[in-house]
Amino acid sequence: MAQITQINANLWTVDVVLPEYSVRGAVIRGDDYAVVWDTLTHLTDMEVVNQIIGDTPYHVVYTHADWDHIWGTAGLAGTPSSIIGQTHCYDRFDDDVPDTLNRMQTKSPKIWDAVELIRPTMTFDKQMTLHLGGITLDLHHLPGHTKDCIVGWLPELGILLGGDVMETPLPVVNDGDVVEAWLEQLDYWANIKSLKQTIPAHGTTAGRACLESTRTYLKKLLNDDDIPVLDNWDDFYQKTHSKNFELVHGV
Ligand SMILES: [Zn+2]
Repeated sequence: MAQITQINANLWTVDVVLPEYSVRGAVIRGDDYAVVWDTLTHLTDMEVVNQIIGDTPYHVVYTHADWDHIWGTAGLAGTPSSIIGQTHCYDRFDDDVPDTLNRMQTKSPKIWDAVELIRPTMTFDKQMTLHLGGITLDLHHLPGHTKDCIVGWLPELGILLGGDVMETPLPVVNDGDVVEAWLEQLDYWANIKSLKQTIPAHGTTAGRACLESTRTYLKKLLNDDDIPVLDNWDDFYQKTHSKNFELVHGV
């Protein structure tokens, strides 16, 4: 069951607890339009979202095409004005997106039978701005975790929606060669003085903690600095860290 938390007059987070980790989406509501920021894992995750949106016209934004961010779309009431994703996100629906669903349906058929893959109806390469009425959402491509990852900047609120670009206790690397460029992009956001809070899909929403922690981790990972295994790294993150190290250093 998805858990809704109201952050301010325009923003709610939507949290779903999975066996290995948790995932978070969001709803942004302006005077004219709402945005569903990721549709999470299952149609039922969108029930609480439908209540917040009500009759407001809305867009869906996919932060990237990993399964835990895009499988609930068919659970939304009404028809979205558009479903937006970065260009590579659209392409992944011809590639690994159906493969993952097939694999998980084979493994646990009853749970995932209702999932429908609904691809973006609108794409962008680098940047796109959505005017929602009194509130703006700026979408920025920020490859790193995957090549289709984006972040969402809410300038009026000083909040950056991080998707999987930032994560605590540590981010998931899939390609060691892009980590340096990923870190440079995070440095860009860290220099934005009006950025008060980061809200990632996995991890802490306290202040800028997730952004700063991800920068520190990636910097150490690149420099091969000693990264101590911390108490808050459960099994999933210990394994992820070993894999991250291997991807960057090849051992
Ligand atoms: Zn994720």
